[in-house]
Amino acid sequence: MGALDEGHLDAELEGGVKLGILELGLEGGSETGVIENAVRVLLQGLGEDSSREGLRKTPLRVAKALREGTKGYSQKVKDIVQGALFPEAGLDGGIGHAGGAGGLVVVRDIDLFSYCESCLLPFKVRCHVGYVPSGQRVVGLSKLPRVADVFAKRLQDPQRLSDQICTALHNSINPAGVAVILQCLHIQFPAVERTSHNPSHPNKLDMQGWVQVSVSSGSGVFGNKDGDAWADFLALLKFRGVNIERSLTPTRLWCTSTSPETLPCNGHTMRNPLNGRISTKAGPSQPAMVAAVASILHSLGEDPLRKELVFTPHRFVHWLTNFKTSNTEMKLNNFSYGGIGPRNHNLHKKASDVGYDRNKFQSELNLPFWSQCEHHLLPFHGMIHIAYFLEEDAEFDRSILQSIVHFHGCKLQVQERLTRQIAETVFSVFSRGVMVVVEAQHICMMSRGIEKVGSSTATIAVLGQFSNDPAAKENFLQSISNNTESRG
Ligand SMILES: [Zn+2]
Ligand SMILES: [Zn+2]
Repeated sequence: MGALDEGHLDAELEGGVKLGILELGLEGGSETGVIENAVRVLLQGLGEDSSREGLRKTPLRVAKALREGTKGYSQKVKDIVQGALFPEAGLDGGIGHAGGAGGLVVVRDIDLFSYCESCLLPFKVRCHVGYVPSGQRVVGLSKLPRVADVFAKRLQDPQRLSDQICTALHNSINPAGVAVILQCLHIQFPAVERTSHNPSHPNKLDMQGWVQVSVSSGSGVFGNKDGDAWADFLALLKFRGVNIERSLTPTRLWCTSTSPETLPCNGHTMRNPLNGRISTKAGPSQPAMVAAVASILHSLGEDPLRKELVFTPHRFVHWLTNFKTSNTEMKLNNFSYGGIGPRNHNLHKKASDVGYDRNKFQSELNLPFWSQCEHHLLPFHGMIHIAYFLEEDAEFDRSILQSIVHFHGCKLQVQERLTRQIAETVFSVFSRGVMVVVEAQHICMMSRGIEKVGSSTATIAVLGQFSNDPAAKENFLQSISNNTESRG
């Protein structure tokens, strides 16, 4: 947006920080420009050329998404609720929720997205709101989701979001009480080795990589969690299959960015099985990148010095540097059987050539991966399935395939290119034929409402013999689908 909108100015005026507005007003014309410039700094910090085709519009896209995703800072609850309060005859002011016209009103399953204040990644919110009218007034039901969205469209933490929605509704509707329950899903960065070495418990793709937290807030007649009002509210949710315990306690590990050892591409998870070397990509934070993220926070209307935000730029940069471009190429050819590289125990010699079947292919299913969408600077993650025709006396260990997946995943990517690059790398060793299927969930698509949480995008790359052997192709696809069914 070109300048501060009126809502923002009003909000500032009401807050009584006149000097602040004047200062902001002067630089108002370049507010989006601040974010775009900051994103360019981040791209440079990742060793990227921000003028290359895939990245040229990234600063603009990121700025637009962040503005849209935090527009709640410039919205006022009063404007939304005003004029939507209707008198309802028969409401007995202040007297309980016991039924009739004065009873509990519940709006369930409001889907929202918010931004995690710890790591700046979007998180999904399913919101349930209940209130007991009083003073012979009810509010238009469509206003409840809109009020909730005002607070979701900010940098948040689940409990604060829940409290703010509750307080805002209480103050604007003036009911006998308000109850809010939020079920929040935050992307979780798994220790990939753990998930990949447990084939007996493969993760379901639709929930893999997410951590869920439920929180609640109550005011007025909902002040007591053990009271009748809560019992009614919870019963109405249960009715819809939402099962929530009475005491909701937020999990401490809500945002895993606060525990760096679980990031996908650092430390032992990036140990290269080819040479045992550990990638040093997740190096120390770069001051220019950290300053750039702090300038984004400021530009969104936040105070980068707010207690909860102090380490956010560091965490975001730490996360981002997992996807730093690396100059080292993955030279698998050196390690192929008969190659000149050091002996590699990950490339199995087959026990006997007698059973060798030229028409047989080897496949590895459910290799977990993480990558970063270069268009939106948001993660996408999921499962990769790889098949290749065996060479006469060799096949890959699963860990070598996993490291190929990491190598191509841990950089700014698009899913199609990731698929092709993995296929080409495997093909450089098993040149008879390779097929790669990538199933991914994109945070950028979910947070814009294009993709639902749980749905996924699939891409396929086919090289060599697989391209003219429909039976083999079908065979491999069928094995993926069988496996997915047994997972479900
Ligand atoms: Zn987070
Ligand atoms: Zn994207």
